[in-house]
Amino acid sequence: MRDAGLILAMLHSVGPLLTVDLSAAETAETNIDEIYEQYLGGRGVGTKLVHDRVPFDADPLGPENRLVFNTGPMQVSNMSFTGRMNCTGVSPLTDGLVSSNAGGFMSRNFADTGYGAIELTGVADELTIVHVRDDGIEFETVPDLAGATVPETVEYLESEHGVDSDQTAVIGPAGENEVRFASIMTTEERAFGRGGLGAVMGSKNVKAITVEGDSRPEIEISATQMEIHREAATDDHIMKEQGTVAVMDLANEMDGLPSYYFSEQHFDGADGINGSAVAEKKYKKGTCSACAFACKLPTRDEESGVETEGPEFEVAMAFGSNSGVDDIVEVMKSNELCDRYGLDAISAGNTVAAYLASEDEFGNTELIHELVEKTALREGVGDTLAEGIDRVHDELGVENWSVKGMDFAAHEGRVLHGQGLSYAVSNRGADHMYATFYSVEYPLVPEEEALDPHGATGKADRLIERENLMALCDSGVVCKFSRDYMSPERFEALFGADFEELLAVGGRTVTLERHFNNQRGFDDSDDRLPYDVPGLQEGIEEYYDARGWERGVVPEDALPEDTTSTTA
Ligand code: SF4
Repeated sequence: MRDAGLILAMLHSVGPLLTVDLSAAETAETNIDEIYEQYLGGRGVGTKLVHDRVPFDADPLGPENRLVFNTGPMQVSNMSFTGRMNCTGVSPLTDGLVSSNAGGFMSRNFADTGYGAIELTGVADELTIVHVRDDGIEFETVPDLAGATVPETVEYLESEHGVDSDQTAVIGPAGENEVRFASIMTTEERAFGRGGLGAVMGSKNVKAITVEGDSRPEIEISATQMEIHREAATDDHIMKEQGTVAVMDLANEMDGLPSYYFSEQHFDGADGINGSAVAEKKYKKGTCSACAFACKLPTRDEESGVETEGPEFEVAMAFGSNSGVDDIVEVMKSNELCDRYGLDAISAGNTVAAYLASEDEFGNTELIHELVEKTALREGVGDTLAEGIDRVHDELGVENWSVKGMDFAAHEGRVLHGQGLSYAVSNRGADHMYATFYSVEYPLVPEEEALDPHGATGKADRLIERENLMALCDSGVVCKFSRDYMSPERFEALFGADFEELLAVGGRTVTLERHFNNQRGFDDSDDRLPYDVPGLQEGIEEYYDARGWERGVVPEDALPEDTTSTTA
């Protein structure tokens, strides 16, 4: 049945869409209020714009692709868990529509421009910085910044323009070189990481965008924000000390820690890279704008001088256990290199691990660091690795540990079978944040919320609810680490709408992503895993039935009713 999708009085983003046409060096503003009413903000709005305005057969690295940056309504609040923003485009890694979400401090500065969304289209003649201010847009050609690292670019912006790293989204050499898993960096060490949107920005010849202004919209936020904020500030939570890597010991105990390029599921050296190891190197609190939860991990090793933020669990897996490395300082160094060159550290680590497997060089940290640099610069074997595991596994002679081109996150689908199902059907491939299904399968949640991790059947409804909820969070924009502090009632209070209506926003977003990908040739043959999970096929069928999809394809009559005219 068609979803009319009209929601009245739901809190949503405001402000025009700014289109930056790089080929013509022109800008335009469009009223997209009707889209906000249906898709709220963030990922929902980004998805609707890319779905309607990018041709279905567009080359991800060609001029027709569009890169949408935006926030949601919560980015004008002072509530914890809202220091994040969204970026959407067609991914050169998965070849599908992908949204990526970054923390840091850019979201409030973005809201200050008064724009609800900014999209980049076309290709600039020369390497360019786009300065977005509430009193005008400026194109600055910067050929001298070709090849500059993220810190070098940030330094330039600070010294020449007086904007700091919290007002910028920047690519490094990896983005310029169109590495398929290049990131866009903000606040220097926070990444729009997964899916290679940094390569899209590089393909448009855009080195950075800056955001400045004094035009933050006024949006009335419920008093519920204060309760959440207070709890985030006062609660004693393990993530405040160890971030996401806190879960590593449990995963390892469950034989659910990918190791040695996924050939093993337990890592004897986990003590060297686990939450305690990271906490030992943490030297101050780290957070995102407005967030009192402060789960970030600024780390420093006094002896070697290595300084970075993290590693989080995924990177401790990719550059640690999956690469056969048991020394947290070496993982920190890998993480720092990825941030400097502008690479998604998860994909970079997994791809390097694939090479280590092919050469039987696990644990060779000197080689690992060299490979990261070569990948970003596309030098030697790095030019091969820059294409990602899906495209080069045959050449390397290793298994293809990816789904829809996206390499695997750490939460192990061979142990958490519902998470495995999620990896198989996710529009973004083997990425953990699409549904965060692991969070209900680890024995960490209250009994009434917990699921037996064994088997993939009977989990489709719960998976759909999680996917829709995560899409809602990405649209709000609310950080997914708020999970212990949010409830259906709190979502309703914050967004002024029934929880089911809010989940339907997420559902529309997932459906549009799938529909876009279907038009590019994705179907049920792409919803698969490189390993066996009990009941996987049955679970996939249950998922399609519950979504109303036919063999992984969205029927035209199941599309959200198009009440908007958003084509470019
Ligand atoms: S919970 Fe952590 S990642 Fe999320 S907004 Fe707060 S500091 Fe940032």
